[in-house]
Amino acid sequence: MSIIIAGGGIGGLITALALHQKGIAVTVHEQVGEIRPLGVGINLLPHAVRVLTGLGLQDRLAAAAVRTRELSYFNKHGQLIWSEPRGLDAGYDYPQFSIHRGTLQTILLDEVVARLGPDRMFLGERFVDLTDRPGGKVEAVFAGRDGQAAARRQGDILIGADGIHSAVRARLYPQEGAPIWNGRVLWRAITEAAAPFLSGRTMIMAGHQDRKFVCYPLTTSPDGRGQVRINWIAELSFDRSKGWRREDWDRTARLEDIAPLFADWRFDWLDIPALMAGATTIYEYPLVDRDPLARWSFGRVTLMGDAAHPMYPIGSNGASQAILDAEALAEALAAHGPTPEALSAYEEARRPPTSAIVLANRGNGPEQVMQLAEQRAPGGFKDISEVISREELEGIAARYKQVAGFSRDKVNRADANPAGSKA
Ligand SMILES: Cc1cc2nc3c(=O)[nH]c(=O)nc-3n(C[C@H](O)[C@H](O)[C@H](O)COP(=O)(O)OP(=O)(O)OC[C@H]3O[C@@H](n4cnc5c(N)ncnc54)[C@H](O)[C@@H]3O)c2cc1C
Repeated sequence: MSIIIAGGGIGGLITALALHQKGIAVTVHEQVGEIRPLGVGINLLPHAVRVLTGLGLQDRLAAAAVRTRELSYFNKHGQLIWSEPRGLDAGYDYPQFSIHRGTLQTILLDEVVARLGPDRMFLGERFVDLTDRPGGKVEAVFAGRDGQAAARRQGDILIGADGIHSAVRARLYPQEGAPIWNGRVLWRAITEAAAPFLSGRTMIMAGHQDRKFVCYPLTTSPDGRGQVRINWIAELSFDRSKGWRREDWDRTARLEDIAPLFADWRFDWLDIPALMAGATTIYEYPLVDRDPLARWSFGRVTLMGDAAHPMYPIGSNGASQAILDAEALAEALAAHGPTPEALSAYEEARRPPTSAIVLANRGNGPEQVMQLAEQRAPGGFKDISEVISREELEGIAARYKQVAGFSRDKVNRADANPAGSKA
């Protein structure tokens, strides 16, 4: 059996490791000629860390990541709305990790090359086309680096793991067009700060859906200059009808475009203007997703990760859901062989839950507590219970964990019954 993966991002690399662990031959074809540690912070939820632990990656990740202790929501005045422990601190058998995306991708690439061999990882190959011959093999066509001839690769299955602008998806759905922008834009950056905030392992979100600030540490111990790395994201809403620049993970932006809108967000537990001013490079990215698809698999071809279900980065689910896809794909291909039936089994396990998360994230997911606080008490509050009851807060948090498949019981039970790990 031979599997071709188009895309060597987070989902593609983990799928390669998961397939290899099951003894299935796989090659990865990534468009960039050199993988550079791009991106800023990313979160891995306990159900995804369970999968990574099964792949023997937990120690390397733990050494490079922060074990998130709690997630706290505040209003724009810095008043606490809701706080909940996360990962091990919440009684999960697995931690939640905050990690630099580039560091994660570099670790995964090292592991793929070490375990599968360097001849299984093809850099500088951009998927452009496919031919799926009934009863036969699937052929994927990759464009080479400048001036090089295209490569034609034959395999039993082709997995499109090529992200939000997936060319495999475009080949399956040629009429779909660009991702959908919802009017919000993210500014993402890392600041080397003199001191940690709150517990030193806290992720915070402050504000509401039209003006929001999120941050969490990427290191806990001060470096040689006594600094810790803090990842932050500022989010603003604009008039949708005016449109925005095409999403590009690498587009840089200017601090002066956003800093004035957060100028008075100086809380006694965090000075947001100072944190923003300390960033060396700021990246801009419009909040986009795509409508859930009715079908991911056609014959011997399927989609995974952002190619299958791009979602707003709300609730820290983008990478985690790609990792669950990887596990489900490996299980289905091991159980059914390299057949369309395996892809149907994978899709049956993963398409309904991920479609539900895409839709839940459009309604702000667990972050709706911030919007409720803004709507009901824009001037702030003395006691949050006068604005939102404890039951309502608990209900919102618990419902999202159910939808996203990481309620504590479910994650902890999944080791005893791996099939139970699927939503
Ligand atoms: C450069 C970059 C920076 C990012 N930074 C962040 C971040 O800071 N925070 C965050 O939450 N998420 C970030 N993401 C998105 C995040 O990695 C994904 O949402 C999530 O991890 C799901 O992973 P994925 O493998 O499905 O997609 P991705 O991680 O996006 O990986 C897709 C891969 O496919 C490759 N590719 C694309 N088209 C082709 C093609 N035609 N042929 C072959 N290969 C192709 C891309 O180069 C990429 O390596 C970033 C993605 C990229 C590509």
